[in-house]
Amino acid sequence: LVSAVVDNNRSEEVNDRAIRPKTLAEYVGQPVVREQMDIFVSAAKLRSEPLDHTLIFGPPGLGKTTLANILATEMGVSLKTTSGPVLEKAGDLAALMTNLEPGDVLFIDEIHRLSPHVEEVLYPAMEDYQLDIMIGEGPAARSIKLDLPPFTLVGATTRAGLLTSPLRDRFGIVQRLEFYNTADLTHIVGRSADILGVTMDREGAHEIARRSRGTPRIANRLLRRVRDYAEVKGNGTIDKGTADKALDMLNVDKHGFDHLDRRLLLALIEKFDGGPVGVDSLAAAISEERGTIEDVLEPYLIQQGYIVRTPRGRMATRNAYLHFGLDMPKDNDR
Ligand code: ATP
Repeated sequence: LVSAVVDNNRSEEVNDRAIRPKTLAEYVGQPVVREQMDIFVSAAKLRSEPLDHTLIFGPPGLGKTTLANILATEMGVSLKTTSGPVLEKAGDLAALMTNLEPGDVLFIDEIHRLSPHVEEVLYPAMEDYQLDIMIGEGPAARSIKLDLPPFTLVGATTRAGLLTSPLRDRFGIVQRLEFYNTADLTHIVGRSADILGVTMDREGAHEIARRSRGTPRIANRLLRRVRDYAEVKGNGTIDKGTADKALDMLNVDKHGFDHLDRRLLLALIEKFDGGPVGVDSLAAAISEERGTIEDVLEPYLIQQGYIVRTPRGRMATRNAYLHFGLDMPKDNDR
């Protein structure tokens, strides 16, 4: 059983790589980001320079890693990947940077989680392609300077506000990824279904897209689960009826909210009279991490108009009450 689970995970990983867009032209949606990056990449190539350092921010699953890979491919260079929490010592970052070829992309995911002393090594590296580190300890310690090849740092974070301002200021390009609309997600699910060899009609794709919280990663995950359902309970084809039944079974409601979204909204309404309430109290009420609420749950609920963030805390909107068929209290003057 264990090996079956492992194999299943591995095959999802392989599939994931197959459905990941490889070029800007294949990257669906995000028209502003796509148009700008197309120009910046072309200009850098014309001048035979590396692409300027690029910061990509946005909620999880919107395509930050995918975009970083695409930028390297479009520039015709290699990409080395790491992440903020993995880089414990300045030496870890130095080892990575001294192995870069000219023009390469160094991708740092969760860049807001870099430790301060690692971050300090990044400043001269980004500005002057200079590595400035201390080696040894105590009286034997000395500082060494090394020239680095010109490179592009691509940083990804869920919120740009989490970065220190000296780091943020060193990025020449800053891109914010938005939630995808249903048309774009329909396109993404359709493309993934073609690659995975799944038969699906347009209404089926639309239903999955509509319930994907504006997020390609969720759309692709739901597609796989709906395919499972269609293969076991139907003839393998995904149409609106199959998608509907499968998604209901998965507890994904008509607005794409899952049980965590509903728990958050209901806690806000039932335990805090619709708010305003601080995020820490909300986190305690639903036994979730504050970060999960801030990064994963509330961005979509705010964008869709179910929650508002006020200086006094989070409040439920009329939409949130309506979603559960509840009346909004009259004295709640919003
Ligand atoms: P995290 O920050 O949580 O790692 P992310 O924002 O880096 O998330 P990705 O891993 O890049 O997200 O994307 C998630 C999945 O969504 C990928 O498997 C990719 O196939 C798909 N995807 C993302 N963006 C797009 C897009 N614009 N067009 C088509 N598919 C996309």
